[in-house]
Amino acid sequence: MLAGTSNHPLGLKIATAKGSYLYDSEGLTYLDFIAGIGVNNLGHNIERINQAVFSQMKLHSHVMVYGEYEQNIVNQFAENLLSFFPETMDQVYPLNSGTEANEAAIKIAKRYTGRYEIVAFKGAYHGNTSGSMGISSNELKKEGYRPLIPGSQFIKLNFLEDLGKITEKTAAVFLETIQGDAGVRIPDQKYFLALRKRCTEVGALLILDEVQCGYGRTGNFNAFEQFNIIPDLVTLGKALGCGLPIGVLVGSSKMLSCIKENPELGHITTFGGNPVVCAAANEGLNIFRETISPEETNRKGLLIENTLSAIPSIKEIRRNGLMIGIELDSAEMVNNCILEAKNKGLLLFWFLSTPNSFRISPPLTISDNEIKKGCAIMKSILS
Ligand code: PLP
Repeated sequence: MLAGTSNHPLGLKIATAKGSYLYDSEGLTYLDFIAGIGVNNLGHNIERINQAVFSQMKLHSHVMVYGEYEQNIVNQFAENLLSFFPETMDQVYPLNSGTEANEAAIKIAKRYTGRYEIVAFKGAYHGNTSGSMGISSNELKKEGYRPLIPGSQFIKLNFLEDLGKITEKTAAVFLETIQGDAGVRIPDQKYFLALRKRCTEVGALLILDEVQCGYGRTGNFNAFEQFNIIPDLVTLGKALGCGLPIGVLVGSSKMLSCIKENPELGHITTFGGNPVVCAAANEGLNIFRETISPEETNRKGLLIENTLSAIPSIKEIRRNGLMIGIELDSAEMVNNCILEAKNKGLLLFWFLSTPNSFRISPPLTISDNEIKKGCAIMKSILS
C-alpha cells in the first residue's frame, strides 16, 4: 500500500488525461485548472512528447550517473534551454526536482562566496528537503524538523527597508520571482531593481526560484524577464519535464564550475540529466518556442480575471499571466469552493500556506471555451 501525505487527499482515480482534461476510472471528466500545480503547461498527453520519449528509450535510457558520459540528447536539451536565457548564463546543471535544484543552488552559493548566510522571503516556498525547507517560511510546517540549515533569515517582499539585512555576510538571496505558495505575490519593479543592486553591492548571489513561475507561466519563458534584471542563478523544475521529473540550475560557468574541485564531485546525482527526461524536456522546449506566446498567456489570464471579477464574494484576484490566486473571506469558503468545483468537474487547488485563497494555474494551452466553462462553474459556486 502507498504511504499518504495527508488524511484528506482529493482522491481522484485517474485513468487518462488529454489536453486540458483528466478522465477518471468511472468515466467522469474533469477540466484541469491546476495542471498538476504548474506542471502540464503544454497540456496533458502530448503526442510529440510521447514520440520523443519512445525514440530515446529505443536508443538508451540510463547509462551512467550524471556528468561522466557524453549523451547527445542531454547536450541538446542544455543548449536548447540556454537559448531562453541571457548569454551570461551559459551552463545548466540537471537534477530531478525543484527542491534538489534549490539544494544545489544553496551549495553553489556557499562555495562561490565562501559565506553561509541565506536571506529568503516571508511567504517563500522552495521545497521539502531540509535545505529548501530551511529557506521556506511556513513555521508550522518546519516545526517538527528542526534543526534545519542554520544562518537563514526572512525579509519582507517589497519592503525596501529590509534590504539592509543583506550584508557582506550574505551568500545568497533566494526569491521566487513571483511567490507561489504565498498566494501569488508580485514584486514591484522598483523593489526588484533595488534588490539586484544591493546583492551586487555586497557580493551576494541573487538566486531566483522559477520552479513554479517559470516556463511561460507568467508570460515570458522566464518570469524575471518582466523586471529587466539578470539574476546570478535560476532554478526551474515542474513544467520543464513535460510530465517527467526534473529540476535544473542555470547560471554562469564560473559559478557552476566551483563544485568541480576542492573537493571534486561537490554535488552529484545519479538520475539528474536522465536522457529520457531530457528528450521530453527538449521536445517540450521546441513546442514551447513554436506555440506559446506571452501575449496569449496574458490575454487568457485577463479573460479569467475579468470574468471572475464580477463575482462579489471574491475579495481579491492576484495574477501574473496564468498564475492566479483567488482570495475569499475564509479558509472554509475556499475548502467548499474547491470540493464543490471537483463535484462539478472542475479542478482547483489550495495553497499550502495561504488558507484564504485558492490557486488557478491551467495549462497555457487552455482554450477560451474551456476558460469560460471553468469560470462559469466557479461563478455558480461562489454566487
Ligand atoms: N520551488 C517552488 C517555487 C515550488 O513551487 C516548488 C514546488 O511546489 C518547489 C520549489 C519544489 O519543487 P519539487 O516539488 O519539484 O521539489
